[in-house]
Amino acid sequence: MSGTTSNIDPGEVAKFEKLASRWWDPDSEFKPLHDINPLRLDYILRYGSLRGKQVVDVGCGGGLLTEAMAAKGADVTGIDMGKSPLAVARLHQHESGLEIDYQQTTAEALAASRPGRYDTVTCLEMLEHVPVPESVVHSCSRLVKTGGHVFFSTINRNPKAYLFAVIGAEHILRLLPRGTHDYRKFIRPSELDRWSRHAGLELEDITGLSYNPLTREYRLGDDVSVNYIACFRKA
Ligand code: SAH
Repeated sequence: MSGTTSNIDPGEVAKFEKLASRWWDPDSEFKPLHDINPLRLDYILRYGSLRGKQVVDVGCGGGLLTEAMAAKGADVTGIDMGKSPLAVARLHQHESGLEIDYQQTTAEALAASRPGRYDTVTCLEMLEHVPVPESVVHSCSRLVKTGGHVFFSTINRNPKAYLFAVIGAEHILRLLPRGTHDYRKFIRPSELDRWSRHAGLELEDITGLSYNPLTREYRLGDDVSVNYIACFRKA
C-alpha cells in the first residue's frame, strides 16, 4: 500500500483532531502519553545516543516524543495526518526553542520519497489507529538505514488487554475518552514480530509498559500483556 490517502482511517484521525488543543496539558486526555513519555524516551536511549541522529517520528501527534528526542540532540522529522495536532506541535516547538520538521504525510508516502534516510524510526501508539498496520511497519522499515532501529509501541490483544486498556482506562478510571481504542485493532507481539520480519526487521527486544492504578504510575517491565514497546533492527 502506498500513497497519502490509502492507509488512513479518517474517523481515527478525527478523534485526535478534536482533542488536539489540549495535547500539551498534562492533566488532559493526553495525561497517559505525558506519563509514559520519559519511560519511552529512556527505552529508546538504551539503544544509543540520539545526538546528531536523523530521526522520524511517525504519527507524532502534538509532538510529545518528537520534542523529547529533539531535546536530546536528534534532527527530527515528525509526521502525522492530523492537521490540528501538527498545528499544535508546530507552535509548541517555538515555546521549547526546538527546531523540528513537521509534515502532514503518511509513513507510506515518506518511505517512497525518502527511503533509507533515517538512523531511527519511532512509531508509538499509532499502529492501532490505522486500517493496515502491516503497511506502516513495512514503510518504517523502508525509512530506516541498514543497522538502524525502529521502535513500535501498541496494545496487546487478549482478554486482560480489553479489561485494562478499554474497560479500565476508558470506563472505570476515565484516563482516556470512551472510544479511544477499538479492541479489534489491538496487535499481538507475535503479529508485530511477523510483520516486522517480513519487512526485514529483526526483533531486538520487547518490553511491557504497565500501569498500576493504585500508585497511578507506569513502569517498564516483563509484563507485555497490555501495553508494550519493542525495538527492531534493520537487517
Ligand atoms: N505518537 C504520538 C501520538 C499518538 S496518538 C505519541 O505517542 O505521543 C496517534 C496519532 O496517530 C494521532 O496524532 C493521529 O493523528 C495519528 N495518525 C492516525 N492515523 C495516521 C496515519 N494513517 N498516518 C499518520 N498519522 C496517523
